[in-house]
Amino acid sequence: MIPIKLSKRQQEILEIVKEAGPITGKEIAEKLSLTRATLRPDLAILTMAGSLEAKPRVGYFFNPQSEVRQSAANLAKQLVNNYKAHPIVVQKSASVYDAIVQIFLEDVGTLYAVDKEGLLAGVISRKDLLRAAIGNNNLEELPISVIMTRMPNIVTVKYDETLFEAAKKLIHNHIDSLPVVREIDKEKNMYEVIGRITKTTITRAYVELLEI
Ligand code: ADP
Repeated sequence: MIPIKLSKRQQEILEIVKEAGPITGKEIAEKLSLTRATLRPDLAILTMAGSLEAKPRVGYFFNPQSEVRQSAANLAKQLVNNYKAHPIVVQKSASVYDAIVQIFLEDVGTLYAVDKEGLLAGVISRKDLLRAAIGNNNLEELPISVIMTRMPNIVTVKYDETLFEAAKKLIHNHIDSLPVVREIDKEKNMYEVIGRITKTTITRAYVELLEI
């Protein structure tokens, strides 16, 4: 659904119908001190958009589903750039032991490994670290580069993509987090990490947008 931008008058009409519906067009016009004819185009737009329902001889009703659709559409068009969190990065030469400490210190579920140039080289999740820790008692000697998911297998999101696109990538790839990147050289898989989007980011955006 494409969200429509309501005019001030259309918003006023919606408020009136929400409060006093079912209500006739004539009564709405009286409340706004306008003529019925002036309001006709606005009522037609609101009815076509699904915000209002009209019943002959009864009047206009507010359709609460339309608000849910509008909120969902608002959520979908939000940009990754406005919601991204700070990325927690480690050098890919760091040890698994250091990565485990980092995950606790930073209170995150996923770390991003970078190379000497600061470009994205890998992703290390909690389970990657648990897997490496089972039966290995020399975690200080084991570099994360051995256990991380590497480029070109990393699923990323660009800062100008939408939260909806990010959410779909999380779900389709069964992962918890996406590095937000700025492309340096696509052919050579060179990306700068500028943020992270996690399942928590999407949940927070959902709550924020519906709580207003
Ligand atoms: P966990 O393993 O703690 O449940 P995830 O579900 O995010 O966390 O990770 C599952 C696997 O997918 C891990 O092996 C991890 O390295 C990998 N992974 C996580 N995020 C990404 C990503 N953005 N791109 C590619 N692989 C990823």
